[in-house]
Amino acid sequence: MTKAPASERSRSALAMALARLVGVSLSEARALLQAAPVLLPRALDTVQIAELTALGASLETLSAVHPDARCARHPLLFADESCRQCRARMCTACQATGKGRCGTCRERARRKRLFFRIRVAFLLAILAGVLLWAFADVRRRRARNDWQRPVSVAIVVVRLGAVQDTAVQKLRQRTPALEDRLAAESLRLHARAGAHPFELTAFGPVDVTSSPPSSSSDSLWSLAKHTLAKRRYFSDVDERAGLDASAYDSRIYLVARPPAHAGRKSVEGESEEGGRIGFVEVELADDMADFALFVAAHELLHTLGATDKYDAAGRARVPEGLADPERAPRFPQLAAEVMARNVPLSATQERPPESLDELAVGPTTAQEIGWLPLPE
Ligand SMILES: [Zn+2]
Ligand SMILES: [Zn+2]
Ligand SMILES: [Zn+2]
Repeated sequence: MTKAPASERSRSALAMALARLVGVSLSEARALLQAAPVLLPRALDTVQIAELTALGASLETLSAVHPDARCARHPLLFADESCRQCRARMCTACQATGKGRCGTCRERARRKRLFFRIRVAFLLAILAGVLLWAFADVRRRRARNDWQRPVSVAIVVVRLGAVQDTAVQKLRQRTPALEDRLAAESLRLHARAGAHPFELTAFGPVDVTSSPPSSSSDSLWSLAKHTLAKRRYFSDVDERAGLDASAYDSRIYLVARPPAHAGRKSVEGESEEGGRIGFVEVELADDMADFALFVAAHELLHTLGATDKYDAAGRARVPEGLADPERAPRFPQLAAEVMARNVPLSATQERPPESLDELAVGPTTAQEIGWLPLPE
């Protein structure tokens, strides 16, 4: 066929006749028309040629050009071409339809594209889910700092070694005293949290044989591994403590060891600033419950966005690390600012707090956790 008519009407009539006479689908017939001048993949008799000519096609008869090979898709049609991808023999109708690729290869490519799209859609759906979850989680965490309701906190005693049961009992008994102390600080500061800022619940002891995993290097990969290991460690502890993590705004894990030496020292824990989980190792004996709870409060306020207020030497920074920066004369202070950890006695001396009665929340920490408005 050397030429096909230009008008759409005569072309569709011709395509139908061509499809019937050659034995291809209508879309393959249309592709053949599109490809003209083109070799028809079947020998036609004079009646058939006359029918096509009447419909506007220009046909020329060639002799002996059709090879013996047959199209892989149309076994009745001559194959003049081969697929550029799989080398399968194919007719000119296939060639015209597939732009050089056989039906099988086209179908395979189409399926590949489809799977690709499904995969992309699937991954996008997961990503959207993760983003939604993260967004909701950030909102829920921020809501803690609105102080519209008490922030619920689980304090979980994780026992590492021979810590006396009585020491753990003492710590659980003193937990309400910490709740009261924080409430008193809220009232003293006229904080928006009001008279009931926290609801503390003690859990444990849960006996473990190793400390929580701590991060060694800060590469992104080891950080991710560390986060996962930590999550596994604490969800195991939660399960054994009978603790439903989703029911608490913050969880503080006190990893209790038997006291190794006299004198108590402050240690820094690992808490996600503005996160949900804090943990710290403490030495625990009968008379150390208050100190351990002081440390727990320090980690708890970290999870609510408070920052440390001691210097490189471990001493309270002035003035933000003072319980009462307005006090005149400034020293001695009467309490330990919770994020500074010690009671400053003079500009150069300080001592650890002796009981929860000496725990104070300074104005800067109060601003950081949303108890007080930020200064203009
Ligand atoms: Zn092929
Ligand atoms: Zn074919
Ligand atoms: Zn700290």
